[in-house]
Amino acid sequence: MMRLYNTLTRSEEPFAPATHNAVRMYTCGLTVYARGHIGNFRTFVCTDVLRRTLKYLLGYDVKQVMNFTDVDDRTIAGAEKAGMDLRAYTDQYIAMFREDAQALGLEPVEEMPRATDEPNLAAMAKMISMLDRNGHTYRSDDSIYFKISTLPSYGRLARLDHEGMKPGARVDTDSYAKEDARDFVLWKGHRDGEPFWEYPALGITAGRPGWHLECSAMAQRLLGDTIDIHAGGVDLIFPHHENEIAQSEGATGKPFSRFWVHVEYLIVDEQKMSKSLGNTYTIPDVMAKGFRPSAVRLLLLSAHYRKQLNFTWDSLAAHEESLRRLTDFLARLDTVAGDGSHDAVQSRVDDARRAFAAAMQDDLNTAAALGAIFELVRALNSSIDAGDVGAGDVPVIRQAFDEFDRVLGVISLRRAEDARPPVPVDEIERLIEDRQAARRRRDFAAADRIRQELAARGVLLEDSAGGTRWKRK
Ligand code: AMP
Ligand code: ZN
Repeated sequence: MMRLYNTLTRSEEPFAPATHNAVRMYTCGLTVYARGHIGNFRTFVCTDVLRRTLKYLLGYDVKQVMNFTDVDDRTIAGAEKAGMDLRAYTDQYIAMFREDAQALGLEPVEEMPRATDEPNLAAMAKMISMLDRNGHTYRSDDSIYFKISTLPSYGRLARLDHEGMKPGARVDTDSYAKEDARDFVLWKGHRDGEPFWEYPALGITAGRPGWHLECSAMAQRLLGDTIDIHAGGVDLIFPHHENEIAQSEGATGKPFSRFWVHVEYLIVDEQKMSKSLGNTYTIPDVMAKGFRPSAVRLLLLSAHYRKQLNFTWDSLAAHEESLRRLTDFLARLDTVAGDGSHDAVQSRVDDARRAFAAAMQDDLNTAAALGAIFELVRALNSSIDAGDVGAGDVPVIRQAFDEFDRVLGVISLRRAEDARPPVPVDEIERLIEDRQAARRRRDFAAADRIRQELAARGVLLEDSAGGTRWKRK
């Protein structure tokens, strides 16, 4: 059975889903006011590998929900600044998220709800009415608040004592009139120029949901009252997840999530990678430097998810090199010519499979799992050198790497990248035409520039009597 660290108990616990064979898992998704950076994607790649481990290594069904926060202070401010409708504004970043998620090999999850989808807003309104009924709310200045003093268990996840509690970075410390500084907003009264919704039948006047409420309501609507795993980055423990627990448990009276899983920061020069510090890199930024997303994925998995991971371009280059070592090894298997199979090879492979499975079940120790894989590559390369691997061994070796890859998703991602031209084909064709046009007007400098730019992006042009053809560098 897998052991998983649970922030709620501050300890590793054996994990199994509560009911049947199906894991119900919620991941706090991106706030769509900017393109996600690779720090955000550290959290998403780690939860993707948790999902794959549960599915492919342990054989559970997984129902995973990952939301888009498409209404909050930051999205509203961004849309206003851009002079755009909120929905159209957030659409752009959702599209970019989908592109980057695919580029990083994130397996599509079962549901990706947007907070502003009507059924979700209705679920939020319903949750407020349940909280009203249970006496956890009050209204002030057109807004609705959660009254923390009505819930003695408040602070259990973040380990706060009620008196010492300070407002965190994301507590709403604006002009809204709270009775107690610790209380948090469930529904923000309408302000000019902001989008609003209303549910008069439930006593909810014009306004918009608070960020915390969005996740509680969407988790309940799509996964039920009690879920198995709730995940996100460590910055969400307080206040976001603490408040989610207060809302969900205040509404239903049942435990909200059995396990809380938090991914540590991707850092740059000892600081969290974050938009407010201006030290972020996106997938397009990384690709513009000539790196491929598969190397980013490998780098993001190179440290245990509960340890901070320092991002540098050198370490990205080193992971590109490791990945090459892996794919070179797999290509080399095609050249193994000797006959038969060898017990020594089989037992090496079995040892590595066991080490891999043990590492992944040990609180998702991807660093150790990768260590087992690279150790196997090193050992088998030596065995091939010594002529101690036969064609009969190759299927067993390949099968093991396929198993590793279903969980880590790096090799298949690299293969998909290799199969795709480095520049979209219609763009290459357009540039070839531009280059011909430049040559016709005898602007050879411009023509050359196009050729060089394509070469820098991994595409070589070859001129012949029949015209210009391109090939991958
Ligand atoms: P946000 O869009 O700010 O709500 O963040 C989306 C997800 O990315 C959350 O789960 C955050 O905890 C996570 N996150 C943000 N910055 C980092 C970082 N530097 N390293 C790891 N996870 C992060
Ligand atoms: Zn959330």
